[in-house]
Amino acid sequence: MASDTQAGQDRGPAALPLPPMKWDAWGDPALAKPLSEDVKALLAAALGVSADAADTPLAPEEVELRPSALPAADLAALAALVGPGHVSAADADRLPRAGGKSTPDLLRRRSRGPQDAPDAVVLPGSEDEIAAVLALCAERRIAVVPFGGGTSVVGGVDPLRGGLTAVISLDLRRLDALHVLDEVSGEAVLGAGLTGPRAEELLAERGWELGHYPQSFRYATIGGFAATRSSGQDSAGYGRFDEMVRGLRVVTPAGVLDLGRAPASAAGPDLRELFLGSEGVFGVITRVRLRVHPLPAEKVHEAWSFPDFTTGAAALRAVEQQGTGPTVIRLSDESETAVNLAMTDRIGGDRVTGGCLAVTVFEGTKEQTAARHERTHAVLRAAGGTPLGAGPARAWEHGRFSAPYLRDALLDCGALCETLETATDWAGLDRLKASVTAALREHLAGALVLCHISHVYPTGASLYFTVLAARQGDPLTQWDAAKRAAGDAIMADGGTISHHHAVGADHRPWMGREIGDLGVRILRAVKDTLDPAGILNPGKLIP
Ligand SMILES: Cc1cc2nc3c(=O)[nH]c(=O)nc-3n(C[C@H](O)[C@H](O)[C@H](O)COP(=O)(O)OP(=O)(O)OC[C@H]3O[C@@H](n4cnc5c(N)ncnc54)[C@H](O)[C@@H]3O)c2cc1C
Repeated sequence: MASDTQAGQDRGPAALPLPPMKWDAWGDPALAKPLSEDVKALLAAALGVSADAADTPLAPEEVELRPSALPAADLAALAALVGPGHVSAADADRLPRAGGKSTPDLLRRRSRGPQDAPDAVVLPGSEDEIAAVLALCAERRIAVVPFGGGTSVVGGVDPLRGGLTAVISLDLRRLDALHVLDEVSGEAVLGAGLTGPRAEELLAERGWELGHYPQSFRYATIGGFAATRSSGQDSAGYGRFDEMVRGLRVVTPAGVLDLGRAPASAAGPDLRELFLGSEGVFGVITRVRLRVHPLPAEKVHEAWSFPDFTTGAAALRAVEQQGTGPTVIRLSDESETAVNLAMTDRIGGDRVTGGCLAVTVFEGTKEQTAARHERTHAVLRAAGGTPLGAGPARAWEHGRFSAPYLRDALLDCGALCETLETATDWAGLDRLKASVTAALREHLAGALVLCHISHVYPTGASLYFTVLAARQGDPLTQWDAAKRAAGDAIMADGGTISHHHAVGADHRPWMGREIGDLGVRILRAVKDTLDPAGILNPGKLIP
């Protein structure tokens, strides 16, 4: 990294704690999964992926990081508020908070030339400290980016200054307590900085579970889940995080809000909704009160094959509309099923021979699980499915957190690999899938576009696309054109710009079309009330 000798600042090794996460890739370096020579040959033959297009990896010391713009006096003032051990302008602390984990983020971090980063990292330990930091930053015109696990894939934690003098990353990992477990009501109050695994660990010690398992589970935080309306992979059970939120505490520059008094209320509009998905632009979520459930006694897995995507989607719709109660239900299209087969040959020990693979999982007491399984099995069979046994469903569950490592391996080999997601009603699902696929293919010659239904609702479903292509020229420019075309196709065909990845900086250009001009003015009015100096996450969410 570039050396910087600004007076009074620590330029030494990282001083602040982080879980093992590679700065230019996903997750724990010890779990990286290089591709086999067979798979590399397959990529070269099928897509024309060439190892010549791969970047030469940079060591962290080689990164040319933009020097911190924060004056020593501001650093000292922040240290006086949170303690000197909880503020750092060291490059080694700024680099891991320089952005999220989308493919463009990772490509930018692998590139030579100057890279941006927050000017300092601040770790508050209490609501009072957060309020004091926000007040100081408003007075000194410093932008604040709330930072949970840093797993945003939409530019949510980009260090944007929004015309202010500097930007700090407000890392919330010290808010890591289980504050309350109310076993009578089935509710827990959790600190915003708890990671998914730590939250589950604390609850499991007392026989309870949250059950929110997004693919980023191992690193993402309770506050991040709430701030982005995250969706877990227990897609039909405890899928949407926002649906589990009973209350929130939020520190804003204008004061503290404690929202959600009762399990249901007719006391006007529900203000919790303003902060779910608010992506740090209105305030800092410090605690979340959540519905929790006893650890399930029983779990049953079953996989299915459908002859084609339309038949499979109709089967999932029947299950959801009849309410037969699987905890997980998802369906891969023909391309995704075929690629999974090619990559693994055998999925979970049971032969899958093409078509479209669906996975179901059931949880609860022994009796509930058996009844839910039986009813769902009958509906899927009547809708044209062929049962494949438990193996492929267990294999999916076993490998569900390792897919992001595969993306790193693909990038390492010179491929371009990225995902995007949307949702629409059942009636428009096939049309939306076709138009997004066509848009991606048009801008990424020869690309493989894979898709699955990740979440189902009585009236519609989400579509999750994975794109694999050979790099041609600058991969950032290449992806930008494809992403823009896909976003426009989503808008034109009645989808939402995000079912669960949120808006951040990357989806912001579509927000006007998503909620209309008046909708944008409402968000701006809320922002002006809560954050009149505009310090919180400028350049995100609100156009
Ligand atoms: C490999 C991979 C897989 C993923 N899989 C899923 C998935 O299955 N489902 C899904 O929904 N998403 C998924 N994501 C996206 C991402 O993990 C989610 O958006 C997650 O909820 C972000 O949580 P985080 O703690 O990492 O938040 P961050 O990335 O740190 O922040 C996200 C946004 O929320 C704001 N923020 C964070 N904490 C707070 C807080 N306490 N108060 C106010 N604002 C805050 C930030 O400023 C930022 O705008 C995935 C991402 C990756 C890289």
